[in-house]
Amino acid sequence: MSTQEKEKNTTVTDALAKLASLCKMRGFIFQSSEIYGGLGSCWDYGPLGVELKRNIKEHWWKSMTLRDDVEGLDSAILMAPRVWEASGHVENFTDPLVDCKNCKARFRADKAPKKDGKIICPDCASGNLTEARNFNLMFKTFMGPVEDSAATIYLRPETAQGIYVNFHNVATSMRKQIPFGIAQIGKAFRNEITPGQFIFRTREFEQMEMQFFGRPGEDEKWMETWKAARMEWQKSLGINPSKLRFHPHGPGELAHYAKAAFDIEYEFPFGWSEIEGVHNRTDFDLKRHQEYSKKNLQYVDLLNNNERYLPYIIETSAGADRTLLAVLADAFTEDTANERIVLKFHAHLAPVKVAILPLSKKPELEGVADKLFKDFQKTIVVQYDETGSIGKRYRRQDEIGTPFCLTIDFDTLNDKAVTVRHRDTMAQERIALDRVETYVTDKLKAWG
Ligand code: ATP
Repeated sequence: MSTQEKEKNTTVTDALAKLASLCKMRGFIFQSSEIYGGLGSCWDYGPLGVELKRNIKEHWWKSMTLRDDVEGLDSAILMAPRVWEASGHVENFTDPLVDCKNCKARFRADKAPKKDGKIICPDCASGNLTEARNFNLMFKTFMGPVEDSAATIYLRPETAQGIYVNFHNVATSMRKQIPFGIAQIGKAFRNEITPGQFIFRTREFEQMEMQFFGRPGEDEKWMETWKAARMEWQKSLGINPSKLRFHPHGPGELAHYAKAAFDIEYEFPFGWSEIEGVHNRTDFDLKRHQEYSKKNLQYVDLLNNNERYLPYIIETSAGADRTLLAVLADAFTEDTANERIVLKFHAHLAPVKVAILPLSKKPELEGVADKLFKDFQKTIVVQYDETGSIGKRYRRQDEIGTPFCLTIDFDTLNDKAVTVRHRDTMAQERIALDRVETYVTDKLKAWG
């Protein structure tokens, strides 16, 4: 590895390490099973992480289902094993695995660096490697008391198949006409060869997927519509638009089911990487399920002379964890001038919206603070903090991205007002106690 590459790697590791350390210290993300030494590439979301993730998922869910052409679903993680034969995952869901004979590192050939057109070890840069062999990424387990091949089932590697096998149930029960979509959020599992980069590539993760069913021949139109809609949604998270881009899949990159595919990429500290995929899956999935289940999955188009066909599917598939990592990385700001670290979240994603900070523990101040806290708590997530200097308390709130701090001081008792401190500008203003809840709620709603 060249000195330049080593320096770049150190900066990347530093940036991610700083973020991971802040996430642990402030209750966003912990290593899974930490007291047992940790489990590789599995993570637990702490009190603030789970709020942040719920806010992202909630925003996605609303954007998908608060419209009349998309319905929601929550299908089981465990599915009939034939599903994964039909989908092609048993045969094709593999990564090319390579071992380095020099340092024994194990990695994916398709993600490895190259030198003079040949892949080299990402750890020691050696070209002394084994041939690539295919490794299936699905986790296997057993259903029932007998551990034999007849009882083998899989943890789903994507949520999409649960949607496809329910296409007719949803269409019939909800009386949907094509075009329409089905949205689902749920866990997926992949036995990744080279997980890492914090929560970017993990073995257990959550997907937010929407499958849109349309008439054959209209798939390219829907692909364009959803591509644009998904990019707009990513921007609506408050992510810097110049750090988002499309990456079209070339013929060599296309998955076995796809006619066309675009990744939405974010520029992480370690480079541009996928956070969401938009795929034209054609009628591949329904055709295969029809073949393997021997059930007629054709749609009868009542609006078009009862025409029968297998719908074409546009898939939008975002990772909740990767999106959250992009949101975190984008929000992370080292404000050296003010000696503080700030998570500049968009207000609708911030896990805590308001902090109530009585200047001292005197009962007359606590009384006012407690009432404010309880009033706010009826509608939003709010924190109460009365320990440490006010400066330290502001820093703590900056580090978890709280948009507003309300300070109750001795003047409050006379002027019946509090100081509202704004996270990003650090500006402070005095707002009347009986107006402050409306003031903050309006500001949160109007956030740019
Ligand atoms: P990659 O090429 O990075 O492995 P992929 O193309 O296999 O990703 P898809 O199958 O398109 O990913 O999955 C859709 C989305 O699910 C991805 O954009 C990503 O956000 C998320 N995702 C996939 N694999 C993982 C993982 N191992 N850890 C976290 N999120 C993941």
